Amino acid sequence: MRIELAPDIEPRLRKALQRAGSREIGGMLFAEQLAPGRFRIIDFSLDSHSGSHANFRRDPALHHKALTAFFEQTGRDFSRFNYLGEWHSHPSFPVRPSREDIDTMTDIVEDSSSEITFALLLIVRLRFWIWMDHSMTIFARSCAPQRTRLTPRVI
Ligand SMILES: [Zn+2]
Repeated sequence: MRIELAPDIEPRLRKALQRAGSREIGGMLFAEQLAPGRFRIIDFSLDSHSGSHANFRRDPALHHKALTAFFEQTGRDFSRFNYLGEWHSHPSFPVRPSREDIDTMTDIVEDSSSEITFALLLIVRLRFWIWMDHSMTIFARSCAPQRTRLTPRVI
């Protein structure tokens, strides 16, 4: 699977991280499917939850609202534009997914009442207020989590 970022995503993430300081933030990732197995992250939501690391299980109403807004913006072309996963920050520790992160993501893809059968977890952290570390893990139903990296954008 190839995952890349649209050009404005990294600066927007960096700005949100700078604003949040030591507070953990996160939300959903939205993507355009460019080809089978190839996705470009074109937007993300930013939940205004405060504080603790354990807290990225999002508010379902907020989730629904952000998802609906994205679908409206992209003309409800679900096969091309859709939810890709979750992101959050680890301001005070490495970007490796925690046990709880893995459990939360596994719940999302293993929920048999949901259409989501795979989802990405992007964890980001600012270093020295400039560099952005990241980890990316793919969760798919009935599969072990798999680490991946962002694919550099080819112009
Ligand atoms: Zn985490």
